[in-house]
Amino acid sequence: MGKSIRSIGAGLKAAGRSLVTPATRFRVGGVPLVCPLCAHDEFDRRSMLMNTTGMSFFGMDWLNKSACALVCRKCSRIELFADTPDERS
Ligand SMILES: [Zn+2]
Repeated sequence: MGKSIRSIGAGLKAAGRSLVTPATRFRVGGVPLVCPLCAHDEFDRRSMLMNTTGMSFFGMDWLNKSACALVCRKCSRIELFADTPDERS
């Protein structure tokens, strides 16, 4: 069991990798996205790689995909989306 625990740890480190793109505004389901905490409307978009060794070990490969994380530029709150929200001007 000790070996599998280490493998999960390595998987979690891999999940921390992300790609940062310039701040922008988004629309989710036709509604302009604003931070629910501070009401700011500019976010940094990061593509979070969800595939981890741990998930594969537990047969949860359906989670092995990327998700879109939007980080509030003002308060750093993270909103996570399965699909990338539309950008708006
Ligand atoms: Zn905020």
